[in-house]
Amino acid sequence: MENSSQPNFIRDIIEKDLEAGKHTEVITRFPPEPNGYLHIGHAKSICLNFGVARDYGGRCHLRFDDTNPKKEQPEFVESIMEDVRWLGFEWGEHLCHASDYFDQLYRFGLELINKGKAYVCSLSPEEIRSYRGTLTEPGQNSPFRDRSIEENLDLFQRMKNNEFEEGTHVLRARIDMASPNINMRDPVLFRIVRADHHRTGDRWCIYPTYDYAHSLSDAIEGITHSLCSLEFQDHRPLYDWILDNLSVDCHPQQIEFARLNLNYTVMSKRKLSRLVSEGHVKSWDDPRMPTLSGLRRRGYTPASIRRFCDLIGVAKSDNIVDMSMLEFCIREDLNKRAPRRMAVLNPLKVVITNYSEGREEELEAINNPEDDSMGKRMLLFSRELYIERDDFMEDPPRKFFRLAPGREVRLRYAYFITCQEVIKDPLTGQIIEIRCTYDPATRGGDAPDGRKVKATLHWVSAKHAKKAEVRLYDRLFSVASPTKDEKKGVDFIQYVNPDSLDILDECYIEPGLEHAEPGERIQFERLGYFCVDPDTRTNRPVFNRTVTLRDAWAKIRNKSGR
Ligand code: ATP
Ligand code: MG
Repeated sequence: MENSSQPNFIRDIIEKDLEAGKHTEVITRFPPEPNGYLHIGHAKSICLNFGVARDYGGRCHLRFDDTNPKKEQPEFVESIMEDVRWLGFEWGEHLCHASDYFDQLYRFGLELINKGKAYVCSLSPEEIRSYRGTLTEPGQNSPFRDRSIEENLDLFQRMKNNEFEEGTHVLRARIDMASPNINMRDPVLFRIVRADHHRTGDRWCIYPTYDYAHSLSDAIEGITHSLCSLEFQDHRPLYDWILDNLSVDCHPQQIEFARLNLNYTVMSKRKLSRLVSEGHVKSWDDPRMPTLSGLRRRGYTPASIRRFCDLIGVAKSDNIVDMSMLEFCIREDLNKRAPRRMAVLNPLKVVITNYSEGREEELEAINNPEDDSMGKRMLLFSRELYIERDDFMEDPPRKFFRLAPGREVRLRYAYFITCQEVIKDPLTGQIIEIRCTYDPATRGGDAPDGRKVKATLHWVSAKHAKKAEVRLYDRLFSVASPTKDEKKGVDFIQYVNPDSLDILDECYIEPGLEHAEPGERIQFERLGYFCVDPDTRTNRPVFNRTVTLRDAWAKIRNKSGR
């Protein structure tokens, strides 16, 4: 794998720590909650955490933050492991779970109670919320804050022993209800959740909260640098408080970086989960989804996603990345590796009237002009062909240079043809066939007399081509920022683009392609990069368009001088 060692502020901190002898090795972790599939934002965190561990000779743990049994499922655990590996990273023996530490986390709870630093609070969840205060007003102490250590120990043990209903008691840290940082106003450490856990079954009915489990899991695993996204900045004092007040020998440094935001999509598992459950997309791996499994099905390569993560860099302030940058990365990669083939998505029949019936010939075509080692192949040519319906206009405007009555164009790798006649359906008036003549002297695509044409069209031989289904995708949302009006109460679902999927089921592809395996990536000349979908069946190949050939991002890049 290529080494992406772009400098960034996190690498600077790590290098200084190593130089100063603060650490001798770098240990990071990627800590997903198994409550959904990973998305491209997670890829940023994965590339960062696994990337620094690799580059500084350390290791990165994959840790499931499985503290919320009602939302977590083994399906999500499996998909997360598959996606991290697919991206090209390996955790080896360092597969960890917050649930591995439930016993220790419980004992740490007892330790905090014994030190007078935690108490069982019996306010209802609503009361806890209203006692918490606001950004401008301090909170109020819970009436249970001064329970004795003995009473707290007794209640906490009984919480654990399943003696109470959900929502009746919680364990809270005893910090400061007047703190300007709401996270420090006696945060909840354990709550009662009556749900089976996918790993610990019914052993527990109290579960630790994120801040508590996360800081302690980091310390237990000896993490050196705990890299997380910016929204945890205000949680850092709590992270530090927990580790400072317990007998742990390791105090990792939490460092925050900006989340990845992409326009025209949403990037939170909760929102992505709604798209799936409400049927706006077919599944978590629907090729329109920004999930890693969706991008994979769409045809994205791991290298293109790593390259994207490298290009966007790691910074301290939030920004929104243009989707075209991701598209730039996949084009760049597939340009080098995808073989070229011809396919016609909206077929229009062309009959070459001066080409004898029954005659066929083979014409040589290049598999990838970027890579000679990919060789050549032979294309079958015959009297009846299909071209793209869009490539013909009966009454063309001034700037249309493709086929039109009386006009000559090149068929790629084949001949010059001239349109002589347009055949229409007598009832509907729709064009059903174009009659052309070819110039035998232009075989291979050039005229010996040096005569030029203004367009080169792709085509397939009608007799030899195979049928295929092609799925074209557009943006999943019709506005750049689907969550822009959330605060005004506008649900992001309203901005789902109703035309994000276009299924073409009468397409024709070059013979041979009907045997392509799911996951194979191909450039259809002039149409874009495509990937064979797992829905492919014998005699019924299905292709997803990964991306078109047009490179909008390159234009943006040149303009901004990047
Ligand atoms: P989501 O809101 O999508 O559920 P999350 O932060 O709740 O995301 P986790 O499973 O807790 O999801 O995330 C695992 C790690 O991935 C965290 O360290 C988090 O900071 C990081 N992460 C999540 N989303 C992004 C993003 N958009 N950009 C960068 N890192 C992210
Ligand atoms: Mg989360």
